[in-house]
This record gives sequence, structure tokens and C-alpha cells, in this order.
Amino acid sequence: MAEQATVHGAEAEHAARRQAVPDEAGFFGKYGGQYLPPQLEAPFAEIVKAYHEIENDAAFIAELRYLRKHFQGRPTPVYHARTLSLANGGAQIYLKREDLNHTGAHKLNHCMGEGLLAKYMGKKKLIAETGAGQHGVALATAAAHFGLECEIHMGIVDIEKQAPNVSRMQLLGATVVPVTHGLQTLKEAVDSAFEAYLADFENSIYCIGSVVGPHPFPLMVRDFQKVVGMEAREQFVEMTGNLPDVVEACVGGGSNAIGIFSGFLDDPVELIGVEPLGRGEGVGDNAATMTYGREGVIHGFRCYLLQDEGGEPAPVYSCASGLDYPGVGPEHSYLKDSGRVQYVTCSDEACRDAFFELSRKEGIIPALESAHAVAHALVKAREMKTGTILVNLSGRGDKDMDYVIEHWGIGAD
Ligand SMILES: *Cc1c(COP(=O)(O)O)cnc(C)c1O
Repeated sequence: MAEQATVHGAEAEHAARRQAVPDEAGFFGKYGGQYLPPQLEAPFAEIVKAYHEIENDAAFIAELRYLRKHFQGRPTPVYHARTLSLANGGAQIYLKREDLNHTGAHKLNHCMGEGLLAKYMGKKKLIAETGAGQHGVALATAAAHFGLECEIHMGIVDIEKQAPNVSRMQLLGATVVPVTHGLQTLKEAVDSAFEAYLADFENSIYCIGSVVGPHPFPLMVRDFQKVVGMEAREQFVEMTGNLPDVVEACVGGGSNAIGIFSGFLDDPVELIGVEPLGRGEGVGDNAATMTYGREGVIHGFRCYLLQDEGGEPAPVYSCASGLDYPGVGPEHSYLKDSGRVQYVTCSDEACRDAFFELSRKEGIIPALESAHAVAHALVKAREMKTGTILVNLSGRGDKDMDYVIEHWGIGAD
């Protein structure tokens, strides 16, 4: 049965038709699209065409299914966090364990898909930027598997902060390109990666790290992440005999959230996306795009955007580096306006408390990103008193150890 849930094909296609499908130009309502410099229009058109050819190709689907099972370790389990639920005296909390996916997070789900697409397109090289290095490591892993070159652009500020991930990428055979202009962080790394792609699009493909960027990435990355929701729905029903009452996930760009939400969009299930409130409401203190942002364009697509008066992306902050992006996926923007998904916030403090509580009570150290979703689920569980909540535990917290110890100690009370 579990095997069936991992189909990236007929079943996924069927679900895709029922959910908000972007139009030909990649718009989910008014969000998404392709806002590109003219030189990049042809290379992106090639990716759109290739993806539409390949998404229903039997060999492609079979290879992706094989890799998910035998390389990534899918399906990942759903786990009933009984002790955590009992301690919070409310609804029962279940965790979809994406932290057990190879490399420790959901990101490999779309990186393997992107790598496989590159292989089918006859490309030799994967190009991307990375902030904290998580996307870089997942992509370098996919590149190593497929025998492709990998070039990861990274600001030197981030290179210094994230030394272990830089080593991991290099160990996996990737080239890490230091970006030295501007603020020398993620935004400049994106520019640098785009330039490198523009100079070499015949040979290479640009790989985005979330459901963001120009069409077809929000569609393609969603389709690759859908496996999370399809598995989780089937596993949850098998375990409990029912659907969950609530499904929650943290939202940075929105890939893990859209992955799990996709499995439940047509069900009578409450869907909640949790964004980082960081230090508070002020500009530059959070990355809660849906709550404080307004419509704008960033990195080639339209979405809710945290921006200054001049329309430039605002500075963002969260203790979870995977969540601090001023934009958000176009499909999330659409789902917010339609009212199907509710977007809420969670502060650094609440994230910290959930991080320690899940570690102590269940023996699971979550990524700080995922701890945001857990934190809100605890609040929700107490409110609900009974019923069930399924949380997407997007990744494991090993990568966050240094940050946690330095800022919060070991959490002894
Ligand atoms: C990158 C990352 C996120 C945020 O990315 P989304 O595209 O919003 O899912 C969340 N959790 C973990 C563990 C991550 O590494």
C-alpha cells in the first residue's frame, strides 16, 4: 500500500487537477508567473516544456519512485507523539517524520526530482544558490547520485557562518562559489547563480530550493513534494481510521507545507501554515510574509512580499534560517486569499520552547524551522481539547545544535 502512495504520476496528476493548477503562464490567480530578463525567457521555456513532457513519462516516474524508496528511505513514518500530547492536555499530535528522509529534511524530495529532470534533459550541471546551506547540501547530494556537476553560490557571510554545510557540499563534490558583492548573503547569491546560469544554460539547469521563483518551479517543486501529503494521508487513515482534524506545517518558501497540504486540500481538514514572527512585529524582526507583507515581485514571480516603501524586499529575520525569506510561494499566496489555508505566526521564543519539549518528551530533536509548526500545534491542541493534529516535521535539528547551545544553552529548567 505504502508503495502506491509514492506515485508521482496518475495519482499526483489527478490531485493536481483538483487543486489550484496554475494557468499556462504559471499563474495561481494573480500570483506566480515568470518575470524574467529577456535572455532567460528561452532557457525557462525549455524547462517548462521538458517538465511537461517528463511528468507523465513512465520511465521518469519509475526511476523517481525507485529512488524515493531505495535511496531516500521513503515512505517516512507518521508517529503518534503520545507523551507530548498528554503533557499538553488537548488534541492528539502526530508527526510526519520528514526528518528521517535522507540528508535529514524534506528538501531532498524536490532536489532528486530536479536532478532527475536534469538527467533527462541531458544537462551536465546543477546550479543554485544557498543561504544556510541546506538546499546546497540536498542538491549536492542529488548531483553526486546522478553524476552531475554542481555549483552552489553562497554569500561569504553565510560561508563563514555555515562552515559544516560548506564542507558537506565540497565533500559531495560540489563547487561552492563565494559571493562577495552587496550584503554578501542570500539575495546576492541568487543574482550570482542567475548570472552563472545565463552564461551556461546550454549545459546546465538552475534548481530552486522551494516552491518559489519563476514558472515552472512553484508547480514542479510542489509536484515533487506532494509525496509527503499522499503518504501522510494514507498512513494517518490507516493508523486512526480517520482523517486528521488539522494539518500544520512551517512556511518559509512553502515547499514542505504545500507538500503535506496537497494531500488534504479536498478533505474537510483545517490547514494551517506557520510563519516565523522572530523577535516581533517590527520591520526586519520577522519573516511573516503572509501577515505583514503585500503583493509584490521578487526573484521572477509575484507573491505576498515583505517590502519597504520603495517596493524593495525588506530585511527579514528568524532564528530558523530556512524560514527567513521575504517572499512566499505563489500557491500559498493564492490559498491565503481563497481562505482555504490559514496562516499564523510563531515567535523565536515559542519555537525554542517547542524545540526543547519535543526533544525531552519524545526523543526527537527537530529542526528550528519544524519547531515553529510544533509550537503552534501545541497551542492549537490545548485550544481544541480533543481531536487530532498532524504536523509536518520537515527536518531534524542536528544542524541547529551550535546555534541552540550558544543562544539558549541545553534547556535545563
Ligand atoms: C528549508 C527548510 C524549511 C523551509 O522551506 P520550505 O520551502 O518552506 O519548506 C523548513 N524546514 C526545514 C527543515 C528546512 O530545511
